[in-house]
Amino acid sequence: MPSIKDIMQTMEYGPAPESNAEVKAWLSTRSAGIGHFIDGKFTSADGDLIDVVNPATEDVISRVAKGSAADVDAAVAAARAAFPKWSALPGHERAKYLYAIARHIQKRERFFSVLETMDNGKTIRETRDIDIPLVARHFYHHAGWAELVADEFPQHKPVGVCGQIIPWNFPLLMLAWKVAPALAAGNTVVLKPADLTPMTAHAFAELLVEIGLPAGVVNIVQGDGETGAAIAGHPGVDKVAFTGSTDVGRIIRRQIAGSGKKLSLELGGKSPFIVLEDADLDAAVEGVVDAIWFNQGEVCCAGSRLLVQEGVAPRFFEKLKARMATLRVGDPLDKTMDMGAVVSMKQLSRIKALLKAGEQEGATLNLAPVALPEKGAFCTPGFFTNSHPANSVSQVEIFGPVATTLTFRTLDEAVALANDTRYGLAASVWSENVNRAIELAARVKAGVVWINATNMFDAAAPFGGYRESGYGREGGRTGMLEYLTTGWDKQGKVRATSAAPIDVAPATGKADHAAIDVTAKLYIGGKQARPDGGQSYTVFGKGGAAIGEAGLANRKDVRNAVEAANKANAWGGVTAHNRAQVLYFLAENLEQRRDEFVAALAATGAVAKPEDEFEAAIRRCFWYAAQADKFDGSVTATKSQHVTMTVNEPYGTIGVVAPDEAPLLALLSLILPAVTMGNRVVAVASQAHPLIAARLYQVFETSDIPAGVVNLLTGERDVLAKTLAEHDDVAALWYCGSEDGSRMVEVASAGNLKPVWSDLGRLRDWRDTRFGQGQEYLRRASQVKTIWLPYGE
Ligand code: NDP
Repeated sequence: MPSIKDIMQTMEYGPAPESNAEVKAWLSTRSAGIGHFIDGKFTSADGDLIDVVNPATEDVISRVAKGSAADVDAAVAAARAAFPKWSALPGHERAKYLYAIARHIQKRERFFSVLETMDNGKTIRETRDIDIPLVARHFYHHAGWAELVADEFPQHKPVGVCGQIIPWNFPLLMLAWKVAPALAAGNTVVLKPADLTPMTAHAFAELLVEIGLPAGVVNIVQGDGETGAAIAGHPGVDKVAFTGSTDVGRIIRRQIAGSGKKLSLELGGKSPFIVLEDADLDAAVEGVVDAIWFNQGEVCCAGSRLLVQEGVAPRFFEKLKARMATLRVGDPLDKTMDMGAVVSMKQLSRIKALLKAGEQEGATLNLAPVALPEKGAFCTPGFFTNSHPANSVSQVEIFGPVATTLTFRTLDEAVALANDTRYGLAASVWSENVNRAIELAARVKAGVVWINATNMFDAAAPFGGYRESGYGREGGRTGMLEYLTTGWDKQGKVRATSAAPIDVAPATGKADHAAIDVTAKLYIGGKQARPDGGQSYTVFGKGGAAIGEAGLANRKDVRNAVEAANKANAWGGVTAHNRAQVLYFLAENLEQRRDEFVAALAATGAVAKPEDEFEAAIRRCFWYAAQADKFDGSVTATKSQHVTMTVNEPYGTIGVVAPDEAPLLALLSLILPAVTMGNRVVAVASQAHPLIAARLYQVFETSDIPAGVVNLLTGERDVLAKTLAEHDDVAALWYCGSEDGSRMVEVASAGNLKPVWSDLGRLRDWRDTRFGQGQEYLRRASQVKTIWLPYGE
């Protein structure tokens, strides 16, 4: 007779299907297909309809309209018309709507879960336990922000009409991440779901009608990439929020360059999952299940690169194989399934092609011994061994249920491998040693780090990427700021002229020095450097007289400066107190040369009150020195038994391009916040009044600023700005110049997707502390890293 143990081991799962009768009935009453939701009304589905396929059965479950330019026009017009009233509502009134949405989602949880499963192929276990509860949580959380927005964000207002484009991997959840903060802040919305998964957005629109959301506040235009492009590019859209592939993120960045639209991008990832030898290996194996086999691996932050310390790697891979053998893949409506279907047959072919390429490059593909259903877009879960960092599968986002693996010996090696990717979305660190785990969390370049956990989300925890994983955050206070604006940086008048032409002919006017010739140089890596091209240009001052010459930097000088800045990365690790001290010392040394700077400012002929500008510069040093140890992160209330920290980290090297007005104050106002937050700076001084920079670097030299932390260039503004914008090692760029230049740098920045803060050619009153300094500068100088640390057993 078999023992109970034998029976337990041989017991098979019986089928446990979730009923889809209610959803089928709902679909049958919409058999003509689904149209758009514009101005509170549903349009009929006409024109060329796109089939909506259940990838698990390959059945066409509906058809969806493809939004035309006219549909997008109508949706934007409706959103614009609804904006004044919606944004003027007291926060409490908006909170009531968001609360009603949350409640209605909860009441219809089962319906939404089944519909999402049928549309996307993901398991009911996940839609029921993860997607839909998180959707409700997101609306609750943002009902709270709607209530509090006026108190918590004084001086802020909503941005306007938000164009939101979402992907197919978490259709309703991504909608919630976009719509909830937008509405809470008082914006109106035009949203496009992915054409592969349009159904829950349509059902959501029906829910909005039920709760009586005013017409035009949320508009949903169905369609494909063309429709998305029409939304992003529409002149009536004030902010674009996009989640999807890095390639499309780049297209959108270029498309809306120079438009002044606010932009947040949540893009791809190739996130490391790091297992140290002191990790609880069984827990880490369970972590892998949630990291790469969750949602069929179609997760932007999937732990898709397993980095395992050498000593435990063989044991870990064996355990992983054993665990993988127990995975169940099949009908996603069956409650006992671990994995359902990937989103489409096309996505399945894409995954298979990548896996084949991996094998051809020599990696070994270990697949789970599972029998897949005969029909449907099912993919066998697995992981590669013998893969190398340069293999395509180690670099490219597979977006399927297969991880790559690499081993490492030391912590330094783990960090190097983890950061050996153009992405920086998330990371997962497994160790029982809290010191080592936190060290890794600090050193990995990623927007979210989970310690002894993975793929955890909460509406209060900011989510978003570093590097080519995009910029902007979703969730929490930081996420709200994406949908609010103070508008101060767009208030100034457009500068009357663009930069004066560069004159490299020998100066003929009277120089500002009597005896010894003065050569203004560049300042690179803590040294005064002659320009690489061996050229200078004439600087004109009061009354148009030539007052000296400045170095004419070229691309090579920019590259040298960036290299020097990158070498100075220790600056990011010094204490905030140390940074403050350096800034105070800078003020002290500047003060000692007050008369000289005031005279030099007067000689430019461009500064009305040189004394005042100088005084403001001194104050600015003090203000940022004061902020260095006060612009803090926070601990956020998310799940129980978790400390969720948000930390403000420096970007690395920031390029700053100063305008011609306020040649000393503007330059310092751009350099100081960046340096305060631990960044290094490559600064381009005013093209017209560059001699101030030469005096300034002499002060830097005496102020204990480590070599390479601040580098100063002079020359043709837009030539240098373009090189900075295109440079892969420049992590962010602030540009003050012309309208054309703003557009140019935004286009050029699309390469490594660095965030650009351009002034659209608008004058800024640098002396006014509302415009010339503030928390916005510090926010722009830092990126939020969210670290999840569980505790307890
Ligand atoms: P896309 O980036 O193409 O799609 C995301 C969304 O953008 C969809 O709604 C899509 O419309 C829309 N879109 C496509 N082109 C444009 C455009 N030019 N302007 C505006 N909107 C546009 O991702 P894919 O669906 O093609 O997936 C390809 C790969 O991208 C995946 O295999 C995966 O690697 C990655 N990806 C990453 C995601 C993430 O969360 N980071 C999410 C999805 C994909 P439509 O789909 O209707 O054509």
